[in-house]
Amino acid sequence: MNADGTHWNPDMETLGREELEALQLERLKETLQRCARSPFYQAWFRDAGFEPGGFESLEDIRGLPCMEKDTLRGGDPTRFLTVPLDDVVRIHSSSGTTGQATVIFHTARDIEAWAELVARCMYMVGVRRSDVFQNMMGYGLFTGGLGFHYAAEKIGALVIPAGSGNSRRQIQLMRDFHTTVIHIIPSYALYLLEVFGELGVDPRGGTDLRIAFIGAEPHTEGLRRRVEEAYGVSAYNSYGLSEMCGPGVAFECPEQEGMHVWEDSFLMEVLDPLTLEPVEEGKEGELVFTSLNREGMPLLRYRTRDLASVYRGECPCGRVHRRISRIKGRSDDMFIVKGVNVFPMQVEKVLLGVLGVGSNYQIVLDTVGAMDEMRVLVEVAGELWHGEVRELNRLRRRIMEELRQEVLVTPLVELVEPGSLPAGEGKAVRVVDKREHARHARGD
Ligand code: AMP
Ligand code: ZN
Repeated sequence: MNADGTHWNPDMETLGREELEALQLERLKETLQRCARSPFYQAWFRDAGFEPGGFESLEDIRGLPCMEKDTLRGGDPTRFLTVPLDDVVRIHSSSGTTGQATVIFHTARDIEAWAELVARCMYMVGVRRSDVFQNMMGYGLFTGGLGFHYAAEKIGALVIPAGSGNSRRQIQLMRDFHTTVIHIIPSYALYLLEVFGELGVDPRGGTDLRIAFIGAEPHTEGLRRRVEEAYGVSAYNSYGLSEMCGPGVAFECPEQEGMHVWEDSFLMEVLDPLTLEPVEEGKEGELVFTSLNREGMPLLRYRTRDLASVYRGECPCGRVHRRISRIKGRSDDMFIVKGVNVFPMQVEKVLLGVLGVGSNYQIVLDTVGAMDEMRVLVEVAGELWHGEVRELNRLRRRIMEELRQEVLVTPLVELVEPGSLPAGEGKAVRVVDKREHARHARGD
C-alpha cells in the first residue's frame, strides 16, 4: 500500500461520497454474482424472488431478507461458500461457545483484505514501523488476536503476541520491550491497573505506552478517559464482529468522535429492529451489514443486533466513510461478560437440565472492582429449599460447574427461596445489567 503519512490507503480513505457509492455498487454487484454460485444463496434468492442480475442501485438490496445469526447456525457451514473449500485457508468463529458459535471461512485474499483494513485503522491513529505493539487479545478462533496481529506486522511494527491473561507477565513484557501500543479489552485494561498498583508501577512513568486500542465489548466514554489518564495514552474504540471479518469494521480516527465504518468494504444499513425499515439519519437503530469485499463467504444484510446511530455531517479528518456512535446495546438479549458472548437461553438450558422445568432465574451482571461479575439467582423447589444445607451446596456447585462449561465464564450461583424472584405477566426480565456501561446506555 502507498501510505502517505496520514492514510494507510489513500485511494480508499480519500474517496468522495459519490465515488465511494459507485465503488459500493460495483462491489455489491460482484458480490451478488459470487453469491449466485453457492447453493445457499441460490435458494435464498429464489425464495425471495430476487434477481441478482437486475440490480440497479444500492437500495435494491432491500429486496432481500436479512440474514441472522440463526441463518448461519446449524447445517453444513460450507453451504455458504462461494469458492471451492480448497481455496479456504482459515476459519474463525464468534466468541460464543461451541453451541452458539458461527463459523466464518476465509480465503487467502480475505485474510489479506482484513489485515489491510485493520492496518488502515492502526495507521490512521499513528501506529508506525517504529512502534512496539503488544496484542493482549485472545489468539485463536476469536478474531481479536490474529486480526490485529497481521495488520501490525504489515505496518512493520514489532509485534508481541502476548495473548490474553497473565497480568504480571504482560506488565513485564511492556517494560522489557518498551511497548508503545497495546490492544486490550476495556474491562481488562481497568483490571490491569490494579496489578500495576500491586507491583508499585505507574503505567504513565513506568512504561512507554502511547496508544491503546480498546474494543470487542461495550464501554463508556468515561471508561475510555480513565484508561487514557491512567496509562498516559490515547485510547481508540475498535468495533467489529466475526461475521464481517472481526476488528476492522469501524474504528475511531484521531478526532475520537464516532467510528468510521469502512464503507468500501461494508454496506451499512441502520434499521428499526422491529419493522426492519431504515431509521432516520442520526436516530438509533440496528446495524445491518453486507460484505463488499469478501471472497470465501460473503454475507448479505447480516443483522448484528448492535444498536447505534450514525453521525451527521462530515468528520474534520476528511474521511467520508460514515461514522457510528458507540454501540448502545443489543436488540436481542445476548450479553457480553468478560469478552464472551452469553445468551440467557444458555443459562436456562443448564438450569432445565439440572432442576427440571419451572425454575425461575435471573442473571445479574455487575462491576466488581474493575471486572465483570455474573451472578445467577435460581429459585429452588420448596422441598429442596427446606432440605439439607449440604444438598443445596452440592446443587449450587453443580449448577456453577455446568454453567461454566456452557458459557465459558464462571458465574456466582445463589439459590433462593421459591417465589422470591420477580415474575411479572409480560416477558421475564432475565438479565439485570448493573454494569457502568449498561447504566450509561440506559441513561440512568
Ligand atoms: P464476536 O463476533 O464474537 O467478535 O462479537 C462481536 C460483537 O462484540 C459485536 O456484535 C458487538 O456486540 C460486540 N463488540 C465488538 N466491538 C465492540 C465495541 N467496540 N463496542 C461495543 N461492542 C462491541
Ligand atoms: Zn474522522
